[in-house]
Parts: sequence; C-alpha cells; structure tokens
Amino acid sequence: MTDAYPLHPQTREFLDRPCRMLIGGKWTVSEQGQTMALLNPATATHLIDVPRGTPADIDHAVRQARRAFDDSSWSRMRPRERQNLLLKLADLLERDAEVLAELECLNNGKSAQMARAVDVQLCIDFFRYMAGWATKITGTTVNPSLPLMPDAQFHGYIAREPVGVVGAIVAWNFPLLLACWKIGPALATGCTVVLKPADETPLTALKLGELIQEAGYPDGVFNVVTGIGAEVGAALSAHPDIDKVTFTGSTPVGKLIGKAALDSMTRITLELGGKSPTIVLEDMDPMEAAVGAANAIFFNQGQVCCAGSRLYVQRRHFDRVMADICSIANGMKMGNGLDASVDMGPLISAKQQARVQGYIDMGRELGATIACGGTSSGPGYFVRPTLITDVDQKCPLVQEEIFGPVLVAQPFDDIEDAIRLANDSPFGLGASIWSNNLSQVHRMIPRIRAGSVWVNCHTALDPALPFGGYKMSGIGREMGEAALEYYTETKSVLIKV
Ligand code: NAD
Repeated sequence: MTDAYPLHPQTREFLDRPCRMLIGGKWTVSEQGQTMALLNPATATHLIDVPRGTPADIDHAVRQARRAFDDSSWSRMRPRERQNLLLKLADLLERDAEVLAELECLNNGKSAQMARAVDVQLCIDFFRYMAGWATKITGTTVNPSLPLMPDAQFHGYIAREPVGVVGAIVAWNFPLLLACWKIGPALATGCTVVLKPADETPLTALKLGELIQEAGYPDGVFNVVTGIGAEVGAALSAHPDIDKVTFTGSTPVGKLIGKAALDSMTRITLELGGKSPTIVLEDMDPMEAAVGAANAIFFNQGQVCCAGSRLYVQRRHFDRVMADICSIANGMKMGNGLDASVDMGPLISAKQQARVQGYIDMGRELGATIACGGTSSGPGYFVRPTLITDVDQKCPLVQEEIFGPVLVAQPFDDIEDAIRLANDSPFGLGASIWSNNLSQVHRMIPRIRAGSVWVNCHTALDPALPFGGYKMSGIGREMGEAALEYYTETKSVLIKV
C-alpha cells in the first residue's frame, strides 16, 4: 500500500538496508542474531525486520555507556560544547524532518504531516531549548554556621552533577518525541543513555542514533537496543550499573520498573497513563467547545497519555455539544497516514484495536449510548472516532485508560459537581477547562489534581513547561527547567579554609 505514496528517497534507503542496533558507536546485530518483524499499522503488512536484542546486548550497551560517561572526552566536555552538539543535533533533525516523519508514519500509523508538524517539530524545539540549559546548570553557595567550631572559617557550596548512565524506556505513541524528552536533558547535563524504544516503534530511535553520530557525539554516549519490553526493557531497568531509569508507558509496567529500581536505589522518573477530563462551562460557545473536545480526544487516534478522554459539559449545552462532536467525528476521513487528506490513521496494532473495540462493546453491553462511531475496520487497525454517553462515573469506560479514539461524556450541573467528577479518577496527568469566566477558571485550577491544566486548549505542550502526572500518572517531570533536577545529583561541599 505504501507504493501508492511516493516516499522520500532517504526513507526508502533506510527501509532497504538491514536494521542494526547502536552500541558503543557500532551498528550491531543482536547477540544471538535474532530479529523481529515490524508491521505497517495502516496495511497490516510487513514493514521491516529489526534486531531482537537480549539481556546480554543490554549489558554490553550499559558497559559502553558507563565507559563513555567516565571517558574524559564526554565527562570533561565544556558546557558550551554540549550546548553546540545539541544545537547541531536539532539542525540535523530539521534537515531530515521529512524522513523522520515518514518513518514515524510507516511505523506507528500516525499522519506523516502531523508527525512533521508536531512530533518532529517539538523534538527540534526541545533540543534547542535544552541546549540553552547546558551552560546554565549552576549551584549555590552557603555560609555555614557550625557552632562547634566558632573560630574556623568555612566555604560551603552546593553543586549539581550528572546522574550518570540513564536507562530510557519509551512507549509507541510518540516514539521519537518521548525519546527526545529523555535524551535532551541527559545530553545537556552530561549523562549517557541506553534507549529501549517500544517493541513496535524503534525506527526513528535508530534514525536518531545516526544523527547523533553525525553530530559528533563521542561513541557510547547514546546507545539504542531494540527488542521486547519483558526481555530487554526488564533487563535495562534492573541493571545494577544504571544510575537512573526514565520510563514512559503504562501504569502497570511503571510499577514493575519502580519496584525493580528501588532494589538498587536507581533514580526513577515515571511518565504513566492518564484519563484526563475536558470540562466545558456554560458560558462557552458550544461549537468551539465541541471542536476543542474532539481535538482533545481524536488527535493521534486518541493514543495520547493526556488525551481528553472524559468529557464533562454543563447541562445547558450538553445535547448541543454532543451533536457537534458527532458531526465532527462522522466527517473524519480514515486512512493511510501517508495520505495528506486523511484525518485519522490506524491504531498501533491489532492488539490495541481489539482492546479499544472491547471497551466500546462493553459500553454497549452496559447499556451506554454509542452516539457515533463504535466500529472497527481493516485490513489496517482502524477504529472510528467514537462518542459514548449515558455512562456512570464508576463505569470502567470512565475510570480506565482506553488509549484510543473513544470519548465518554457526562453532563454536570454546578462547578462543585464538575470538580468532583474531574478528580474522581486514579490518574492525574492533564485537564482542560473551557470557559471565558476567568474568576471561575482561576477558582477551579488549584482544585484540579493534575500535572497540567489547560484553559481553552488541550495537550498544548511547550519545552519550557514541565509535563508529568499526579497520582497514578507518574513520578517526576519532563521538559522545562524541572527536568534537569531528575538528571542531576546534588553534592554538598564544605571546605574549612
Ligand atoms: P507499556 O507500558 O506496555 O510499554 C512501554 C515501554 O515499556 C515499551 O518500551 C515496552 O517495551 C516496555 N516494557 C514492557 N514491559 C516491560 C517490563 N516488564 N520491563 C521493562 N520495560 C517494559 O506501554 P505502551 O502500551 O507501550 O504505551 C501506552 C501507555 O503509555 C499508556 O498507558 C500511556 O498513557 C502511556 N504514556 C504516558 C505518557 C506520559 O508522558 N505520561 C506519554 C505517552 C504514553
């Protein structure tokens, strides 16, 4: 099916040569020479084979990352040079943006146009933003009191040092972007990285490896091991010589990783699942609210950790907003993400398609109303954008992360009701409030238990704004100055002068 869409010559060339992993600056097959097949989600046909790494490959990569961390060409590199390398890397991403976007589309199913405008552009912006921080990682001085030595003079200071070797494990929904959110602060602070991309979507991580080499990073600073989560992901997160694990994925796997990390006191950042509310107040224009709510859930086929997957609309506008969302959803063209006229691509896999369809069918069985959508189609892994109403707050469709283009909506009567419903979730990643009543909005913001609150927009991300979750949505933050804290250790120094 991809033959129907002309690919960039470099995308073609990437797909035509054998795929290798990057370990210690060398492109390598897996220790046992095993490979695994990737499918194109739009066609359910074979795309490419990639190495199926093993725990021995992880061990090799961690040793190479450790060696690179200790090596003076990286550990003693001046901040200005780390800044310039990140800027160079951003330029290379910009140069190859079309190729990266096409690879993301072929591997994940998402629209290539969107991948260029959103995924790849955010990576470029984020590397440039993080490049600026490389020269601004500073400490503070302290004038110590020490009562037992009243006559002595002291100089005290607090320094920030790179945490060391970072094991990064990411999900498949934004393969390049999730990796860059981890690699950016790691490279700015002087850490080294072993990246385990999602089983299904390693292609842009491997392309990024090529660009990191071309930018001139020392060998071993960045390594990629492809393979299965339970095999190489587990080996990476439990490796005793990793200083930090940074994970983006589901809450159940995040818990496993957190527990394994604690055994060796490995530092952790966990970016996990969500079930984010979109709250529409009655002063809002219903059509504007419907467009916002539809984008909040249907962007990236609903496979967004902070997707607005629960919709609460003040009762006066409920029916009107539902009707408008249905007309938007019914007008969405489904198809191959290489086709620029397509609004929605396939889900990542047959497994994900079955899971999402299973939730829709459960809604039907529980007596909910499928207001629009509700069906799957093939041969790719398509699910039509779906709106479900007449659901109870305790229903699994409202409480559990579906991770597909499925919106569940309920009316509310007053603001207290809206806040209670919004917070009635194990997750706390994002929330959006749609209203121009500023006083009301400002009263609501502090009461919403979520790491990001958007007003009159949703999933609006900026490199300077930290992103992460309350409650079961994770531990730690990515992006912004806050991210640096999670890639550095604090050292207190006291000198008797
Ligand atoms: P997942 O947890 O199944 O897999 C995520 C990664 O972990 C993959 O690389 C996988 O190979 C690896 N993995 C699987 N089992 C492992 C194990 N036992 N040990 C170590 N690694 C293992 O999640 P997914 O289905 O790929 O992604 C969807 C989830 O990711 C959703 O819950 C979504 O909300 C979440 N997500 C969160 C954010 C965020 O920033 N909070 C962003 C994107 C996605």
